[in-house]
Amino acid sequence: MSSRRDFLQKFAASAIAWPVLNQYHTVSLSEIHDQQPYDGPILKVAIMGLGSYGTRVAEAMKDCKKAKLVGVISGTPSKIPTWQKKYDIPEKNCYNYENYDKIKDNPDIDAVYVITPNSLHHEAVLRLAKAGKHVICEKPMAISAQQGQEMVDACKAANVKLLIGYRMHFEPKTLEIIKMRNEGEFGKILFFQGLSGFRIGDPTQWRLNKELAGGGAMMDIGIYSINGARYMVGEEPFWVSAQETKNDPVKFKEGVDETIQFQLGFPGGAVASCLSTYSMRNLDRFFLNGENGFAELLPATGYGPIKGRTNKGELTHPHVTHQTVQMDEMSDIILQGKQPIVPLDGEEGVKDMKIIDAIYKAVRTGNKIPLNL
Ligand code: NAD
Repeated sequence: MSSRRDFLQKFAASAIAWPVLNQYHTVSLSEIHDQQPYDGPILKVAIMGLGSYGTRVAEAMKDCKKAKLVGVISGTPSKIPTWQKKYDIPEKNCYNYENYDKIKDNPDIDAVYVITPNSLHHEAVLRLAKAGKHVICEKPMAISAQQGQEMVDACKAANVKLLIGYRMHFEPKTLEIIKMRNEGEFGKILFFQGLSGFRIGDPTQWRLNKELAGGGAMMDIGIYSINGARYMVGEEPFWVSAQETKNDPVKFKEGVDETIQFQLGFPGGAVASCLSTYSMRNLDRFFLNGENGFAELLPATGYGPIKGRTNKGELTHPHVTHQTVQMDEMSDIILQGKQPIVPLDGEEGVKDMKIIDAIYKAVRTGNKIPLNL
């Protein structure tokens, strides 16, 4: 029997499609029971990269109504039987990195979710596009804007969709703040602060290897403040400046950033002041201020529960498992052409990559870098 929490999660997963979420809306059980069973199309997904986040997505997908895990692509043969057993995956839907181009002949897989180290996304997306499959790609979509653009172009040429795994784009408290901002609750937006960081452990992991990570904290966690600045302010920045601090050059080698502060300027007059770091524990806060009010998310981008408040009071939307909601929503986007409230297609990913490229350039040169997004 489902727990009340499961009910709330499933309810929230469908309720999130409402463009308008009442700030003080509380969920009654009768509303939950009124939810109709889903009998629309199901997005059949294979996961590439069976690591820690791939596992989290697979677990969350057990509660999806509109998406189903049906296949795997892995370079580690020993993982496959465990996944087959756990998620009831048939042998014919299991691939390795050498043979996955053959997925083009498999009508039982609609989309592949790429959850490998950052620098491997580019080649995987190009190959999957060629195989005619829709692609969901983890953030950062690539390790440069040029790679990102090539991925967008390849998916366009193959007539498949490319979505980036920006799970916060479906988070109810985040969406409530966006709605309030659009309705003018905070007045003219003038300031955003994004703090994104954690303290990284094992120095041998791929996240600290430039070849695989493409950089350091900025690629991995700072990107949340970049992306967040854009959806919280609701505009595209037109300049960036940035400064790097490196306290541990042994752990954070050349090209692997430890801590970067950066600033973004927006055409409407707002400025964002952000911090990306691999050296501070639990740094996860967004703060938006306008002429008349404020919104805060703390934590802002962790797996939840996200907590939020505005000058009007606390946000009380129920917690949802981000990856469950994301995959149900992505099913609607891919199969039914639904437009998400905050876009997360490949072009959106390229904008973040352009900002990252510019941040690294600003650090190198000490200059304020213009952005053309
Ligand atoms: P992980 O190290 O736990 O898993 C990576 C997987 O890729 C492993 O299964 C590994 O075997 C495989 N892999 C294939 N080729 C590899 C190679 N050459 N070197 C190392 N591993 C290789 O990493 P993760 O935390 O699952 O991150 C994977 C991706 O997911 C990254 O792009 C990361 O940014 C993203 N991610 C996103 C979120 C989110 O909340 N959206 C959270 C965590 C990670």
